[in-house]
Amino acid sequence: MQPINLHTSIAYLKGVGPARAELLKSELSIFTLQDLLNFFPNRYIDRTQFYKINQLEGNSSEVQLIGKITHLRTIEQKMGSRLVATFSDGNDTMELVWFKAVKWIKGNLKMNTPYVIFGRVTLFNGVYNMPHPEMDLLDDFNKSMHSAMQPVYPSTEKLTKKGFSNRAMISIVEQLLTEINPPLKESLSIPIIEQYKLISRSEAYRNIHFPKNQELLTKAEFRLKFEELYFIQLQLIRKNILRKSKIKGHKFEVVGKFFNEFYQNHLEFDLTDAQKRVLKEIRKDMGSNAQMNRLLQGDVGSGKTIVALLSMLIALDNGFQTALLAPTEILANQHFQTFSALLKPMKVNIKLLTGSVKTKERREIHEELENGNLQILIGTHALFEEKVQFKNLGLAIIDEQHRFGVEQRSKMWKKNNIPPHILIMSATPIPRTLAMSVYGDLDMSIIDELPPGRKDIKTVHRYDKNRLSVFKFLKDEIEKGRQIYVVYPLIQESEALDYKDLIDGFEGISRAFPLPKYSISMVHGKLKGEEKELEMQRFLKRETDIMVATTVIEVGVNIPNASVMVIESAERFGLSQLHQLRGRVGRGAEQSYCILMIGDKLSEDAGTRIKTMVSTNNGFEIADVDLKLRGPGNLLGKQQSGVLNLKIADIVKDSQILKLARSVAFETLQKDANLAQPENEAILTIFKEISQKTAVWANIS
Ligand code: ADP
Ligand code: MG
Repeated sequence: MQPINLHTSIAYLKGVGPARAELLKSELSIFTLQDLLNFFPNRYIDRTQFYKINQLEGNSSEVQLIGKITHLRTIEQKMGSRLVATFSDGNDTMELVWFKAVKWIKGNLKMNTPYVIFGRVTLFNGVYNMPHPEMDLLDDFNKSMHSAMQPVYPSTEKLTKKGFSNRAMISIVEQLLTEINPPLKESLSIPIIEQYKLISRSEAYRNIHFPKNQELLTKAEFRLKFEELYFIQLQLIRKNILRKSKIKGHKFEVVGKFFNEFYQNHLEFDLTDAQKRVLKEIRKDMGSNAQMNRLLQGDVGSGKTIVALLSMLIALDNGFQTALLAPTEILANQHFQTFSALLKPMKVNIKLLTGSVKTKERREIHEELENGNLQILIGTHALFEEKVQFKNLGLAIIDEQHRFGVEQRSKMWKKNNIPPHILIMSATPIPRTLAMSVYGDLDMSIIDELPPGRKDIKTVHRYDKNRLSVFKFLKDEIEKGRQIYVVYPLIQESEALDYKDLIDGFEGISRAFPLPKYSISMVHGKLKGEEKELEMQRFLKRETDIMVATTVIEVGVNIPNASVMVIESAERFGLSQLHQLRGRVGRGAEQSYCILMIGDKLSEDAGTRIKTMVSTNNGFEIADVDLKLRGPGNLLGKQQSGVLNLKIADIVKDSQILKLARSVAFETLQKDANLAQPENEAILTIFKEISQKTAVWANIS
């Protein structure tokens, strides 16, 4: 028998035909036999158990019964007709009900013939009924049963409407598995299969579709999830290895006067051990012949900025220019302020380029970039413009906040023959499994330590009825010389409402904290840039005690004397936002507090968010919870979630398998970087196939 070609169109499978093939393509993106093979069930149902009508309870889950239709009637209604069948199991009766395709069903039902019916039952007016049951003639059912655990495949409304039922899906998958016989070619090496006790590929596919029992299902799932994650990791890690061997990087040989002068004379604190370690990792990369591609992670306030600055100074010492890319104008501005202030005592030419920079200044910047006089450029997306040409860009730092996609990143170095070193800083910690999947081709540095002397921020939640005591607490803090933030949510869809909340809140606070004893600032999105800046300055200079604001202050504010963060309607914020906001306090030597004001009724997720905030200050832990609540796609945004289009594995639920797959893939490539050894032949074949298909990673180098 010819081995079956899995790239054959689905239309050629017996029982499919052109019309169904079209449906499979348009509804489920199943084009080839391979796609069908990889179309996995959502769940399985136990079809060994049969119920009697007198065993049914309340609103049971899905049940299966044997019986006959004894009576059929159509009930005309305004909304269309309804078909009701009386179904008898020999002792008792119940009703089967159809609202859709009534005519067609009526014409096809056989009276007084044994059926196996399956579906959800509900009790209505003392009678059990099952809407739109799945039905098989008992004879057919007995003939077709291959598996006690029946797969339930994902479906769509259109498929259901067109009568393409789960049963139909099952029979075409059955047909496929019958045709794939001789066994599927292996995709992994024998040592891997043996070491991790994997079942064969054929057995895995058979059991994922039609499990013989729970144990084999578990093994099948493990094998297929492992395989899926293994090949992704193999690609990512190989990309990293290739880049290091193929892409030449600028070799920064010296650490010289810029770095040393700053480090010795202008750095106002000792670096933490974590900062030192990370800086060493970066230096080592930039000192090699290969291009650096490194992700720098650290919790809010862990001191990533200074690491970025010191890395830049090394580039300067070697005669190169550097750029820092920020996702928003506010953030670019803030970085510019910070860097300018830190570098003030030294002669460094540093400029800001954003959308609001005027043409004349912009032209100057372009010129200075090209003649090499400009050493550090800080900016937003504006840096991607065609006109922005560096004389010799040596290091690009991307303050990412998950907003620049892989493709954009690569744009940065299309402009030079030798690409700059790339350092990506993530604003919020990324859970390890997610980082592995999305940034698995990058090297990773983690600052896992906060600067000394930081006290944990005490976080509590309070209700509206506690407001008086909260205000009392705030007054005591102000008495001690502290300053307070009060933040209101800003959610775009209801901007007007949000604004009203803010103004109401401001008025409430103005009454509770009256002039002249207290003074209050307010900052929100409707203010002009200068007005915002003015209010921020007043607060910074301690002319005001309370800053009432929307989330505009989420990033970029560093006011160490502010020690209390009150977040209104905290249940409306996402976890990483809450954590970022909280990170605005706890920057000075004093004990800081975060007070989460919440409503009486919280959704389950909101409850989890609040509980998490109260119980931990650790951004990595918070990120893990966030990942569980929101899923990887939402956490990363559209641009990057493409990498996470997994067929069977789930990076949250299968994090252990992911870690294993990464370490096994690493080992494979460590021993055989080109997959050239005979034992890796199967791996190489699949690897090539996948690499051709996934352009996602191809863009990067
Ligand atoms: P993030 O990692 O959130 O970007 P920053 O770089 O803004 O954190 O640092 C937060 C604050 O901590 C800044 O005021 C910075 O000057 C200060 N800082 C950074 N590193 C240290 C250190 N080693 N010792 C003391 N303070 C530090
Ligand atoms: Mg920062």
